Amino acid sequence: MKSYVASLIKPRLVRSLIVGVGLLMLSVIWGGNAYLYHTLAQNFEERLEDQLNTETLFLDDHIERSLDSVTNKLEAAVVQSQTITSLKFDSATLRKLIESDLIIRSVSLINDRREVIASSNPLNVGQIVPQNLIGQSRLQVHGTEAQLNIGPIFNARDIADATRNNPSPIQRAILASLSFEHQGRNFEWIATINVSYFENFWKRIGHSESIEILLLNSQGKLILNFQPKAPNQQILMERLLQEAERDPIGMFYFGADDRFLVSYRFTGKRPKIFAQIADHRALSEPVRMQQIQLSRLAIVLTIILFAIIAIIYRGYLRYEQAAIYAQNLFTAVTSHVMMSQSTTDGRIIDVNAPFLKVTGYQRKDIIGKNHRILNSGAQTKDFYTNLWQTISHGNIWSGTFKNRTFNDKLIWVNSTIIPFKDQWGKVYRYVALYSDITDAIETSIKFEQERKLRESLESLNHTLQTTANTDALTGALNRRGLDAFIESARKEDALAQTPVSVLVLDVDHFKNINDTWGHAAGDEVLRSLTDRWTNQIRASDVLVRLGGEEFAVVLLRSDAQQARQVANKILDITRSAPIRYEIEGVPVDLSVTISIGLAGARTLRDTDIQVLINNADRALYRAKSSGRNRVEVDPWQSLDQKRKA
Ligand code: GH3
Ligand code: MG
Ligand code: MG
Repeated sequence: MKSYVASLIKPRLVRSLIVGVGLLMLSVIWGGNAYLYHTLAQNFEERLEDQLNTETLFLDDHIERSLDSVTNKLEAAVVQSQTITSLKFDSATLRKLIESDLIIRSVSLINDRREVIASSNPLNVGQIVPQNLIGQSRLQVHGTEAQLNIGPIFNARDIADATRNNPSPIQRAILASLSFEHQGRNFEWIATINVSYFENFWKRIGHSESIEILLLNSQGKLILNFQPKAPNQQILMERLLQEAERDPIGMFYFGADDRFLVSYRFTGKRPKIFAQIADHRALSEPVRMQQIQLSRLAIVLTIILFAIIAIIYRGYLRYEQAAIYAQNLFTAVTSHVMMSQSTTDGRIIDVNAPFLKVTGYQRKDIIGKNHRILNSGAQTKDFYTNLWQTISHGNIWSGTFKNRTFNDKLIWVNSTIIPFKDQWGKVYRYVALYSDITDAIETSIKFEQERKLRESLESLNHTLQTTANTDALTGALNRRGLDAFIESARKEDALAQTPVSVLVLDVDHFKNINDTWGHAAGDEVLRSLTDRWTNQIRASDVLVRLGGEEFAVVLLRSDAQQARQVANKILDITRSAPIRYEIEGVPVDLSVTISIGLAGARTLRDTDIQVLINNADRALYRAKSSGRNRVEVDPWQSLDQKRKA
């Protein structure tokens, strides 16, 4: 049978799908995490290299320009010195020379004894400059070749400090120099450069904490080391010189775990190497933090995902259980009672086996038909209006139908119609369950009919108990009463169809009682016997006094066999005990027997009661002649009994 109960679509597949989607999302989360983790690191590397490269280029450019500026100033001073030497060098004149320069801190002139003979800072005059200016660059001054020395770094703020032998740990100035010959004597100009210019620059680019800056001269001698970060400076410089020899511009990693990234340039008009060393690990710290946050996010997402999948999975299992339960319940109910399912306009879409069995329809003959096909016409229009109003509003309707089966049989069914609603509360189907109560209804109708019949007979009996219809001596019915009784019994359809039996009773040797004990005693015997017999018959049967000491009992709805039982009972009750009678205060016990003749007919309707009485009388005669105190059955009746057996 096709089931219209919510059926599960491959539950195992759905369950696997939920788990599968969960695993897929898990791999997306962790795959994405790994990708971002890697990308972050890679982007950082690329950005760092780019930035370092750009800054190196930029700074190198600045230094280059500064040195250009130094050289230009010195050249200008040399040009002027030809006239200036004849003048008196004073500090104010030299200060004017460098007045608006941001990079040059001081300018001084030394003679071949390395004695400062003039300086923008008067404190320098007279100082002796140590002979430690290393590295040279040649350039033309007034057609003669001059040397530009890029000197070591001094710890002082100006030349005064440069002459001292105790360098302060804070490096502040670069010393640059220019030698020239004048009037047969060798002179040299020296200048100090304001390193704080670069310092400010580094601060501005924001890596001052993690970046070291080196400036080497052409011999590889360190002339500036701003904020040393890398350990083993000696090895670093050797490596730097090696790399610079191979490739004038480049980058390399240095130190344990490649902790430092070195970007260098070996360029420009003058021989010098400029290098920047970045503390790779320190700089990548924010990236590592980002990576850790990324992993935390992945863990949180994983937990949320697990929770969601667990909730969905559990929810689905519950749904599955509910669906299986509903299926089982539906199967259990519908294997027991009749069921039909119909659309909201009453078209039958499903019925079960019990339904087909009771209604006699073939499945193919009823599916697609309207429920009206079962209508027997017994229900009123109001009945259906009420039914449709109830179920179309989504309420359960219960009631009893009288339906017509395929074979035109009328059946009674107790029905409950349940409107099935979808998840939005809209009725989309009616499911009706029925139980066949035809037997019970018919039995109760029969019961009711019988009850009514019995009541009418009893009341009839009662009515017959009037003086006109009863015998004055015994109170039994007289002939007239019997006729009235039979006439009304015939009018009851149900009774007219049933068999009827008649017993004719006659007291044996009744004459003797009269003769021996007197007529009054005879009367008393007749009254007593009437009482006893009345107690033995049903309320719907009647006792009739036919005349003298001859009686009849008419038994409705009794065949010969049942009548014989009643006859035997009457026979027994009559002879079981004597009838007590007192004559002038003396009690006399009168023993009485009777003889009974029995006759019957198949239906009351087709029977003349007098003929039945006559037949019974004939049987009675045989009872008398064959010794009395017995029952004899009319031969036709006994023949009928035999035939039945
Ligand atoms: P059997 O066994 O053959 O029937 O013998 P029996 O004596 O009963 O038969 P029978 O018909 O000869 O006698 C009937 C008697 O019943 C005759 C009559 O006097 C008497 N009898 C008739 N009506 C009454 C009555 O109302 N009261 C009394 N006491 N006797 C009656
Ligand atoms: Mg008699
Ligand atoms: Mg008689």
